[in-house]
Amino acid sequence: MSNSFSGVIGIDLGTTNSCVAYLRPDGTPLTIPNREGDLITPSVVYFEDDLIIVGKEAKRAGALSPESAAVCVKRDIGLPEFSHRVAGKRQRPEVLSALVLKRLREDAEAKIGPVTDAVITVPAYFDDLRRKATQDAGKLAGLNVLDIINEPTAAALAYAFDSEIHIGGRNGEFLSQLSTRPEITLVYDLGGGTFDVSLVRMSPDTFETLATDGDVQLGGYDWDTRLVHFLAEEFHREHGSEPCSDPESLAWLYQVAEETKLALSARQSTRALVMHDGKRSAVTVTRDKFNELTADLLLRTETTAQLLVEGVELTWGDVDRVLLVGGMTRAPQITDMLHRVTGRTPDTSLSADESVAHGAAIHGGILRSKSGPQPVEPLVERQKQWARFTTIDVNAHSLGIAVRDVSTGLYGNSILIPKNTPLPISQTEVFRTHDEHQSKVRVRVLEGEASDAEACRQIGVFDVEGLAPNLPKGSPIEICCSYTADGRIHVSGKDVTSGSIAEISIHRTGDMKADEIEQSRNELDAIRIT
Ligand code: AMP
Repeated sequence: MSNSFSGVIGIDLGTTNSCVAYLRPDGTPLTIPNREGDLITPSVVYFEDDLIIVGKEAKRAGALSPESAAVCVKRDIGLPEFSHRVAGKRQRPEVLSALVLKRLREDAEAKIGPVTDAVITVPAYFDDLRRKATQDAGKLAGLNVLDIINEPTAAALAYAFDSEIHIGGRNGEFLSQLSTRPEITLVYDLGGGTFDVSLVRMSPDTFETLATDGDVQLGGYDWDTRLVHFLAEEFHREHGSEPCSDPESLAWLYQVAEETKLALSARQSTRALVMHDGKRSAVTVTRDKFNELTADLLLRTETTAQLLVEGVELTWGDVDRVLLVGGMTRAPQITDMLHRVTGRTPDTSLSADESVAHGAAIHGGILRSKSGPQPVEPLVERQKQWARFTTIDVNAHSLGIAVRDVSTGLYGNSILIPKNTPLPISQTEVFRTHDEHQSKVRVRVLEGEASDAEACRQIGVFDVEGLAPNLPKGSPIEICCSYTADGRIHVSGKDVTSGSIAEISIHRTGDMKADEIEQSRNELDAIRIT
């Protein structure tokens, strides 16, 4: 593998598997195999005394000793703590994710040389806290996170790039074809732990996300869980004991359930071996039974996609393409449902495992071509083509401020930036001081659609400080909330009376502070991962 690359790796940090790609000297994306030679690395961390194991071996060891393994960490990213203790210790999701990223980085470096800059992908539906935690995980792993981009946007980029190569080589025929008529693509992304659906309008130099929705608690793992319960019931019927009550039998059952699910993507029926308490059951599972057990999960994704299209006042007839991303879209029930609902055959031309990482690497190349040093030939040609390219995302959640209702004393959510607004965007609102000589104003920033502040996710508390002295009660303070292009939130304040920009101190809910990041980064630096 060549040592000459654009200088940025693209990382798809997945709930179950992760993937890394870079741009080759000819400007095409390529997946970097890990030390075992695999294109994807299970996002599993296993603690064995002083050893930290990440990847395939961690997944295998975790099936035998689940209490020492961290799986599905991405579902908890943005929370102060991982959902359960690992090896007897409380762990921060950022640190666990950083261990996965460190391993990916080391494997990439073994193939392409030193790596510092990375673009990391996140589900479009991730809120500000989850986005920040992902960036922090990258920092902890010693990476300079150039940008975070939404997974569907990355998939759309990879698709366009691929089509460009296949349709017109380097002549830009796919993109120029879009100048006659922009196309609307539905990106349906169902991975191991998260579900995202986005509508992207592709024109020759802009990919604009029209709307996005999803569920960060819905993915292949939930399909596995349905099978786990079914298999456990069958075992119970035969032997009278409950495998789910024992952590080791349960971990085994999850592995068997996933293998059963994979087999059912290829065949109509399979047998699963359930073992617990020295006894075993061979349970026959048909595809029809599996579909019946998971019908409500599938329906949740169908309803979300349907509402998304209706929400932007389109019909399925307006959607030109249905693009599938994420390992779980290999299940025939997904393609069948999308075919039935959209009237189109879903496009499975992208590699479900690699496309998001490829899109991230392409995005890294675009950033480099806009700001970085001049690339080496022949990357120049490809980069010139991409330098004029823009991606526009939207916010997946409305951004609001908690405002107290004087009559009830309860806090409501005053929405400043409604969901699905193109980014970047800023919105200003004037608040008034409550007391005489008030020196600071506290703003609670919320993400969510509910009118009740307590039903929204509190991103943090922002203190607008250093107001002019002796301000009379009711003095105007201007608060400006904004989303940057990467979906992160920023708040600034202005004391209208003095005209001075107020200082802002931010207390995000449960995030890692700068000194904690610095300390953890040094600790992680010293850790060897196997
Ligand atoms: P990802 O997060 O995109 O790597 O997707 C991982 C999820 O895809 C896991 O839940 C896998 O079990 C699931 N998956 C991978 N291959 C298949 C397949 N052939 N059929 C059904 N699900 C699959």
